[in-house]
Amino acid sequence: MTIERVMNDENGEVQYVLLNLDDGEMMQRSKVKPKSHWEFLKQILEAIITSPDHSITETQALGLIFKIPRELPKHPSSETAEQLLSEWIEGHILVKNEGEVTLGFVGVAEFRQIIMSRLPEAHCSVCKETCLAGTSCPHCSKAMHKTCYGRLRSGPGTSVGVKCHGCNNVF
Ligand SMILES: [Zn+2]
Ligand SMILES: [Zn+2]
Repeated sequence: MTIERVMNDENGEVQYVLLNLDDGEMMQRSKVKPKSHWEFLKQILEAIITSPDHSITETQALGLIFKIPRELPKHPSSETAEQLLSEWIEGHILVKNEGEVTLGFVGVAEFRQIIMSRLPEAHCSVCKETCLAGTSCPHCSKAMHKTCYGRLRSGPGTSVGVKCHGCNNVF
């Protein structure tokens, strides 16, 4: 067992996620049992990682069931896919915002190793935690959590603008 500290950009709180690393198997870690369901989550994760803004539409996510190898048992139907998607959103593995799907705070904790190796720049310039789909500095485009950006903006003496922690430019 290990405890991952992660920033939840949905409510702006630092949360702790308990991960079961006993067998080191990602399939076990994500508690996604049938291999085809795990494959579906992997496709969504891959699509989120490779998308320029690190989020995909719900329709895109659901369409990914067609990428799951046909020969896997318990191949999800469109209905099951919708159900799985809501389960993952409920469990904060994913998060949905205005029809866009990205990783939730549990997903960030679960897949931190993958995110760090594939997207080394995906961390918040303010709090240094992993940040996939937050906001970014207009000058250097360094990522920031929406929460951290909001806190910067509402801090004392910020009526003239705030300095980016990445490039020191005022925005
Ligand atoms: Zn942050
Ligand atoms: Zn900047």
